[in-house]
Amino acid sequence: MKLLHTTLGPKRADELGMILPHEHIFVDLRTPDQPGYAQADPADVVRLMAPQVEAAAIRGITTIVECSTGGVGRRADLDLAVSLATGMPIVVPTGNYREPWVSDWVRVASEAELEAHMFREMTEGLDGTPVLAAWIKISAGDDGITVLEERILRAAVRAAKRTGAIIGSHTIKGRVVMDQLDIMEDEGYTAERFISIHTQTEPDFGLNLAVAERGAWIEYDHVGRAPDDEVASLILKALEAGKATQLLLSHDRGWYDPAQPGGGVPKPFTHLSDVMLPMLRERGVTEETILQLMVANPFAAYSR
Ligand SMILES: [Zn+2]
Repeated sequence: MKLLHTTLGPKRADELGMILPHEHIFVDLRTPDQPGYAQADPADVVRLMAPQVEAAAIRGITTIVECSTGGVGRRADLDLAVSLATGMPIVVPTGNYREPWVSDWVRVASEAELEAHMFREMTEGLDGTPVLAAWIKISAGDDGITVLEERILRAAVRAAKRTGAIIGSHTIKGRVVMDQLDIMEDEGYTAERFISIHTQTEPDFGLNLAVAERGAWIEYDHVGRAPDDEVASLILKALEAGKATQLLLSHDRGWYDPAQPGGGVPKPFTHLSDVMLPMLRERGVTEETILQLMVANPFAAYSR
């Protein structure tokens, strides 16, 4: 049976409802060599982020996927603290972000060492917690994957093949996603276990579809960050192209930022529920499709 590994333990599909597949509780976009990188008091993070998580819970969100990975302040212990304070399960990744958000040990690690590290985080726990990483979050350079990023990707694919995990990548251009899918298939894994994160940043809709045609998930994660009409139109185009079972929707918002005084001002996880879903219903999207997008798809993608 496929299980979704969360901060509050493994969950079955019938235990969950709507899932936000790409948000952030905690992010540090300073590189790992900076003083104070990823440092914060759990109580401060809970104080800032628990109300945001609770606002999502009131709207029927049952799980939030944390997309902060290695190099950008992945802290499963902070996610766990927010979960314990709110009752909201949070899904945490292993993996590493693109250059230059790479710590010294990752920079010099072999492919085998990186694979072993990711496998351990998915089977034993991460950041000193018993929380298992559910999935692998990586990234690639905007204009093409670097040698180091390819090493991280190949290690990710090998670890994913052993666990059934999905790999999600912050990749800005569709053609770079296609290169990543080539590497993934070269390693003998299926493109169906890949999420093209920020698919909306590729302006050629044909390339969005080409990625989906290969079997990968596409993710429009700019809900609440771009004009509603633009976001709704893009979603409708993907639905009309028959991609309802490969589409993920989220805000890519939050978060506690340790580089800001008091963690800064977080942005809410509520725009999808309050504005976008009603707008999609108004434009003729059925309740069945809404459930597919918000319940079935994120579980299918992130469970293993
Ligand atoms: Zn993000």
